[in-house]
Amino acid sequence: MEQVLFRHNRPGRAVTFAEYAGEGGFDALRKALRELSPDDVQQLVIDANLRGRGGAGFPTGKKWSFVPRDLPGPRWLICNCDEMEPGTYKDRVLLEANPYSLVEGMVLASYAIGVRNAFIFIRRGYETAAANLRRAIAEAKDAGLLGENILGSGFSCDIDVHVSAGRYICGEETALMNALEGRRANPRAKPPFPAVKGLWGGPTVVNNVETLANIPAIVAHGPAWFKGLARIPEASGTKLFCISGHVRNTACFELPLGITLGEIIDGPCGGMLPGREFKACIPGGASTPFFTAEQFNVPMDFDAVAKAGSRLGTGGVVVFDTATCMVAATLNLISFYARESCGWCTPCREGLPYVRWILEEIEAGRGAEEHIGMLREHVQYLNYAFCPLAPGAMGPVEGLLRLFEDEIREHITLGRCPFKRSM
Ligand code: NAD
Repeated sequence: MEQVLFRHNRPGRAVTFAEYAGEGGFDALRKALRELSPDDVQQLVIDANLRGRGGAGFPTGKKWSFVPRDLPGPRWLICNCDEMEPGTYKDRVLLEANPYSLVEGMVLASYAIGVRNAFIFIRRGYETAAANLRRAIAEAKDAGLLGENILGSGFSCDIDVHVSAGRYICGEETALMNALEGRRANPRAKPPFPAVKGLWGGPTVVNNVETLANIPAIVAHGPAWFKGLARIPEASGTKLFCISGHVRNTACFELPLGITLGEIIDGPCGGMLPGREFKACIPGGASTPFFTAEQFNVPMDFDAVAKAGSRLGTGGVVVFDTATCMVAATLNLISFYARESCGWCTPCREGLPYVRWILEEIEAGRGAEEHIGMLREHVQYLNYAFCPLAPGAMGPVEGLLRLFEDEIREHITLGRCPFKRSM
């Protein structure tokens, strides 16, 4: 399978600047600055149908096209590397192996959008990735590939690395901008979308690490090649799938978009752990509703996964075996979200701890039939939260109710968790 993002990887260490450059790295930037206009670069990304890899799958070129061309004042590019969705670690793996594709992709994106200063907003714990990026930025500057008058083209661009203060909400793009401005990191209302009014009120494109790291290959090889990497015609490119749970190989794999869930589990994952049987999985990071073996044939692409009742999200696949209590698994996830609520809006601040309490009661054997209805109501209520944190948090709860209602009821009728031995 052709690799785009992992193409330059070396076993056990990061690729060096010389190795990356020697394998065609920065050729796309050279080509763009010599032969292509900013609009040409944007059009390549539109034609490639590159969809945002941070979780939402919004078309990248379309997002860029929303940036007003005629407004005076600066516009900004932010790379969102505040990767904190449970089950998701692809951006860390990518940057620990190769920071250069991101740096090159950010200069190309900045050229397309007309950005002079770009930021990488990185999760506090990603120390190796941040060190790699700082080194890559310094090396690119020394080589004239970043900074003033890049490659003599007249285009100038700088990249700053900003380390997050360390809360989940900082990864929400508008909370991220508040954090970058030194304010309390609560989300802002959308619209206006950041592309129109973002950082310090200026037009701002926020793109994920994996999204931006794909840009050099698209510029170098063209949209048709990029589309051809996917397994199905509706999809484009590869995807980093990061796997955890009860399979043999838990790692981050670069695979064609459109590969089926069953192929991922039986192929690179090496199947289930010995003696274990598949029960369910989270298909795309903790905010996505569960899949069961019935979805093994679903192509892992944005629209196909949505059609099957979940979301491709970040590509963080968490696999559960038949010994897993789905109430306990959901409680684990909701506990994370309840803790990470920023407290800005009432539905999220009050609703998530309440949902956590209901699940705790059920798991502890103190559940009642009415709790099922209460959970169902909260799946609806939390859609009224201010930002996507609470509706996302309810993704697994919605999946639990739809797919494992019998298991919830068993907890209630037995008065204990059926997966724990009785005292
Ligand atoms: P969203 O659908 O609101 O927006 C996606 C992107 O498209 C944003 O950049 C937004 O500004 C832009 N956009 C959407 N409509 C637009 C319009 N009309 N005009 C201009 N721009 C527009 O999603 P979101 O709230 O940004 O992200 C939600 C996703 O984030 C979830 O799917 C979840 O999987 C993912 N997520 C990822 C992580 C992680 O660690 N990578 C953490 C939490 C959540």
